[in-house]
Amino acid sequence: MAAVKGCATAPERAVADLMRTLRFAFEQNCRDLPGCPDLVARRRRKVIFVHGCFWHLHHCRAGRNAPKTNAAYWQAKRERNRARDARTRAELRRAGWSVLTIWECQIRDAAKLRQRLHEFMRSAASRRC
Ligand SMILES: [Zn+2]
Repeated sequence: MAAVKGCATAPERAVADLMRTLRFAFEQNCRDLPGCPDLVARRRRKVIFVHGCFWHLHHCRAGRNAPKTNAAYWQAKRERNRARDARTRAELRRAGWSVLTIWECQIRDAAKLRQRLHEFMRSAASRRC
């Protein structure tokens, strides 16, 4: 869970490496922002979350995969994560941040991911309220 996150996971490191090759400045695990985003580019007001498909209930095979034991418990826990993710994104956007979510399963296609990161970082600032 985000609240007790320590060292970067492999998917987070992969995204951070790509960001470095694209030469965008960023910080990691900014605890002062809602949801403790994995990557933050403050000057551009952009945050990136790298989500595990299972824990954050992605609509891919890994995300739909349900444990055999305590299925109801895990399902409820993952649905709470997903609801919290949505609240966090809304909170950040209200504060003027652009938010990008990268799923673990999207890390494999580095070329596509690199393109997405580039477009996100280059896009105009999100609408301010
Ligand atoms: Zn996925």
